[in-house]
Amino acid sequence: MVGTLDKEEVLYSSTRDGGSRVTASQAILKGLADDGGLYVPDHIPALRMSMAALSDKSYQETAYEVMRLFLTDFTEEELKGCIDRAYDDKFDTKEIVPLREAESACYLELFHGATIAFKDMALSILPHLMITSAKKNHVENEIVILTATSGDTGKAALAGFADVAGTKIIVFYPKNGVSPIQEKQMVTQKGDNTFVVGIHGNFDDAQSGVKALFNDRELAAQMARAGLQFSSANSINIGRLVPQIVYYVYAYARLLKLGKIRDGEKINVVVPTGNFGNILAAFYAKNMGVPIGRLICASNENKVLYDFFETGRYDRNREFKLTSSPSMDILVSSNLERLIYRIAGNDAAKNAELMAALSAAGSYEITPQMRTLLADFYGGYADESETAARIREMYEHTGYVLDTHTAVASAVYQKYVQDTQDKTTTVIASTASPFKFTRYVMNAIDNRYDAMSDFELVDELSKIGRVAVPRAIEEIRTAPVLHDTVCDKTQMKAVVKKFLGIDAGK
Ligand SMILES: *Cc1c(COP(=O)(O)O)cnc(C)c1O
Repeated sequence: MVGTLDKEEVLYSSTRDGGSRVTASQAILKGLADDGGLYVPDHIPALRMSMAALSDKSYQETAYEVMRLFLTDFTEEELKGCIDRAYDDKFDTKEIVPLREAESACYLELFHGATIAFKDMALSILPHLMITSAKKNHVENEIVILTATSGDTGKAALAGFADVAGTKIIVFYPKNGVSPIQEKQMVTQKGDNTFVVGIHGNFDDAQSGVKALFNDRELAAQMARAGLQFSSANSINIGRLVPQIVYYVYAYARLLKLGKIRDGEKINVVVPTGNFGNILAAFYAKNMGVPIGRLICASNENKVLYDFFETGRYDRNREFKLTSSPSMDILVSSNLERLIYRIAGNDAAKNAELMAALSAAGSYEITPQMRTLLADFYGGYADESETAARIREMYEHTGYVLDTHTAVASAVYQKYVQDTQDKTTTVIASTASPFKFTRYVMNAIDNRYDAMSDFELVDELSKIGRVAVPRAIEEIRTAPVLHDTVCDKTQMKAVVKKFLGIDAGK
């Protein structure tokens, strides 16, 4: 359904309940629907501006043009304010997302923000969307973001929410379960409203502890009396999804501007995928009218999605593998639910049935009819040795250094071209800076680097890749540790209350 009125409202409903609908700002505040479903727009709005016109716009202007069509209850002033506060000099380039051509593809570098990974694209704007949403809905409480992290998301959320008035953020991470650089990034986080806690336990302990706090009614009541309420910065929030559509529109417009494609010519997109948020944003961009052909979904050895696209059966019952691309080590890709809902013909009951099977038995199978609607997607995967070989070859051929996640995408792209002979102009989403995964990357290039310390490797990478050490890494070399709380997994509630100044007696 495509409307033509200038003020075309988009409302959001749950993927598991066809009934009630909420505004964009309400969906952002809530995150997840009460029935456990994800909010989806009642239709995907069509782009209003031509690609030719968009090709003269800045990233921020493009963001406004795209996001206004989805967040229809935000005023122009509100939305532009959010965009300007998000995409500023926290990014180390004015372009925000530069395109870099290497071998036969264009790499869309989504890692120029505060924590040098693509999560910054959404998490630098989510805090502003959230406090604007709170104001619009007359929420007087301060928003407390509570997150469990296995590394990347925690730091990106901390950086996004730090010193944003009206918010606090508390991040729990497994004390011995994140890399030394990731831990250092978190415990050196500045901002009076940030709290970081290591727990004795693994990521699952941290995550179930956080879930229990979200569902704790007594705590919620105590918080309400203190003028506080919890919210989540989880990747299923539409306040994270919508900002990710922008860079696919921007990439197409840039290619047009640079004369790499003709107006209307199709491009393919390759996305290294975990939770299915980034590639879903590309799918939404396509449905807005961006001429995108194939959506190539790249997985690492946790290839649940590859198997799903091959067979129509989603099956999480398998060994979980730890790989060199940890942000893609996922067996349940939560954003896939939005695609399932759509190919079920926006049928919430059918989707709910499949999701119930997933939670009960760990698997579900879509109908042949639904499968025909997945023709635009191509699933591929790369194993650990293919990923390392891709980093080394790319470096040897061009001098360009890929991170491990982007290398998975690049390897899958090569297989795709071999398989299909499709020579369509292709954009590969480059989701992290190689400086974030220095040891893997340097070892892939040459195993003699193994003996070097983390920061020696950083300097060596800067030298061989001829790129300056990013500010995000430079800062943590000398930054003082500001967070040293460590607790048992049973003490998480007490720690939260202490941070928030809620006494047990009240
Ligand atoms: C989160 C992440 C991904 C996966 O993105 P999804 O939206 O979860 O599919 C890929 N690469 C990096 C570096 C990430 O941080």
